[in-house]
Amino acid sequence: MSSEPLLGTPGTSSSPSPTLAKRKAILTTVVVPILLLAGIIFVAIKGEGIPKDDLGKARYYLKSSPVLDGHVDLPIAMREIYGNNLSAFDLNGPLPGHYDTSRARKGHLGGFFWAIFTECREEEEGADFMIPSVTVRDTLEQIDLSVNLIEKYSSDYALCRTADDVMAAIRAGKIASLLGMEGAHMLGNSLGVLRTYYDLGVRYLTLTHSCNNAFADSAGIFGDVEERWGGLSPLGRELVKEMNRLGIIVDLSHVSDKTALQALSITRAPVMWSHSCARHFNDMQRNIPDEVLDKVGKGKGKVDGVVMVNFYNNFALPKDQAPFANVSTIADHIEYIADRIGRHHVGIGSDYDGVEVTPAGLEDVSKYPNLFAELIKRGWNQRDLSLLAGGNLLRIMRGVEDVSKKLRKHESPNMAKYDKRHDLDGHKIDF
Ligand SMILES: [Zn+2]
Repeated sequence: MSSEPLLGTPGTSSSPSPTLAKRKAILTTVVVPILLLAGIIFVAIKGEGIPKDDLGKARYYLKSSPVLDGHVDLPIAMREIYGNNLSAFDLNGPLPGHYDTSRARKGHLGGFFWAIFTECREEEEGADFMIPSVTVRDTLEQIDLSVNLIEKYSSDYALCRTADDVMAAIRAGKIASLLGMEGAHMLGNSLGVLRTYYDLGVRYLTLTHSCNNAFADSAGIFGDVEERWGGLSPLGRELVKEMNRLGIIVDLSHVSDKTALQALSITRAPVMWSHSCARHFNDMQRNIPDEVLDKVGKGKGKVDGVVMVNFYNNFALPKDQAPFANVSTIADHIEYIADRIGRHHVGIGSDYDGVEVTPAGLEDVSKYPNLFAELIKRGWNQRDLSLLAGGNLLRIMRGVEDVSKKLRKHESPNMAKYDKRHDLDGHKIDF
């Protein structure tokens, strides 16, 4: 996708004619940069100019390319604090966590994935994950809370299902709101449930949370999890294929290294890490090792993807250093990943509202500009910052949407089922 700043990238309409597509390409490559330049000159003439200081410059850039955050745990925080009663709190704030609308606006947040999450109930569900639990109900409640909050505060938010929707929301001055599901344990072992979640708006699925599930092995969080499948289970392989067909991004945060490598080897669409750090700085399984990072990019054996960097102190740094994490720590992760696999493959996945401590200078959603100021100090230009802010995520979304459109032409809904389930075995009925 274009590497222009976010708001300089026009959305694509559905199936344009070749001539129209060609004309659009010319418009994209020639006219938009001129308009952008004109916009900058216009601002300069008005006497505002591009600020000289790094923080001012960061804010100035973020006005045209706001942050699209890969992972904000607002829904589960609202469940835990207010029991999902959306009449019990005001999203404008102040709210007790890291997020509310006022602070999001201050931080130039243009959009984010609302994390749909419920706890793993692996013990209740048994060794084979076969004992029914309330997980699917609770998951639906988290979707219900999210879409109703977006609706209630529709002057500030818009529910988005595509990259074009995101662009339209930002242009309308709204916070683009996408749904991302954090863990395939929420599927009740069913691809039918996955398809229903897609219809409700879910656009990424993390293959695991910190527990193994019927589809894949997890990395765990602070303790290693004993592997169950050696990566993806047979059903997990079908899950990845079905996500590709549907247009749900395969999210590889939280998964074991084997799960990540196997998913990368079979996916037909770009992937993401919605909220992950580099293992280079903190040798824990939850972080991404170089071996996995090196599979991301262009060329043979590589997959396009975006690694959205997590802000959580305890992932960013080893335990004894974690209390001292700051803006520079997170910038180090971004630069390390960008140096290794390119600036087209980094993004931001704060994990706000999902962690108990945040780095100094990145305390909440009002503070993203501090991170951009730090990167400006390190020599990042406006174009690269716009890719980091959201351009890379939009490219991945468009890639996933394109693959889905193609696959849907010749693939039917995947009928694979968990081999331990026998309730769906057909039998003869005497009518
Ligand atoms: Zn997480």
